[in-house]
Amino acid sequence: AKDSGRNAYQFFVPSMNKIVTTRMKVEQDLRIAVKQQQFILHYQPVVSLLTGEIIGAEALLRWQHPNKGLIYPDSFISIAEETGLIEPIGKWVIEQACRDLKVWQGMGLNLHVAVNVSSKQCKKSCDTPISTVIQQALQVNNVLAQYLKVEITESLLMDNSQDMIGTLQSIRDLGVAIHMDDFGTGYSSLSYLKQFPIDVLKIDRAFIEGAVDDITDANLVKAVVLIGHSLRLKLVGEGIETKEHLEFLKSLGCDYGQGYFISKPLFFENFITFCQQKNKN
Ligand code: C2E
Ligand code: CA
Ligand code: CA
Ligand code: CA
Repeated sequence: AKDSGRNAYQFFVPSMNKIVTTRMKVEQDLRIAVKQQQFILHYQPVVSLLTGEIIGAEALLRWQHPNKGLIYPDSFISIAEETGLIEPIGKWVIEQACRDLKVWQGMGLNLHVAVNVSSKQCKKSCDTPISTVIQQALQVNNVLAQYLKVEITESLLMDNSQDMIGTLQSIRDLGVAIHMDDFGTGYSSLSYLKQFPIDVLKIDRAFIEGAVDDITDANLVKAVVLIGHSLRLKLVGEGIETKEHLEFLKSLGCDYGQGYFISKPLFFENFITFCQQKNKN
């Protein structure tokens, strides 16, 4: 037992070291990435389930690493949050989304964009309050607030309720709607829906996926649509991967949908082409 204990110890140290060095390397690279703006937004179309029309997109962040290629947010957002780098990165996301909105509007595409926002960006301790960042980005690009949406997760609501209610309210006062992301995961409490100024619920893809062969998941999705609508919220079904998923959500009267079955996240130019083709008739 003593031996295996020592082995475990010897194994533990190098692997921990490796994790720490990797994180430090990512952090270093991330600082450079912020300075050199190595980021890009991909856009995943969001459709009206009633008409099939594209009504907008979710902006999804990617990091164009000079050696490693395209890096997805799950590999760097948490490090960005821990190091505070999420603040400049998040600001860039909002600004870039507004620049892109302006281009679409110039082309006559009346689409909305939803940006993901981390709870760290909503803290009072941020250099610039997020509502100011948003307001300036809208103003500089001459974009109406109704076209921008902010996606938050439930963890944000748990973070520090009073602060967060104030921050969300100030975003909403600008005319920017709040979407609650990944609804149903985390520690959802129905009381959040009463306390927080929320306009849209995004039903997490885990439930959509399960709904096809799990009656409980199917009933949960039904219930969320009913609750949402009775509170005058709109609903987005996420992670629509099959025709079945799409038909199921349609049959419930879910308002909007997104997922690989409709389209994967696209480069800016490809998103425009996709919209022009799909909304032609
Ligand atoms: P999310 O906000 O829940 O975004 C949806 C994720 O699901 C995206 O992954 C998207 O590409 C993926 N997805 C879309 N449709 C389908 C589908 O039909 N099937 C499956 N299996 N997946 C689908 P992505 O782009 O890797 O983003 C992962 C997460 O990173 C996002 O989850 C969001 O929480 C976070 N994130 C993305 N962009 C930003 C950002 O600008 N700021 C912050 N703070 N977080 C971001
Ligand atoms: Ca999201
Ligand atoms: Ca989501
Ligand atoms: Ca998610």
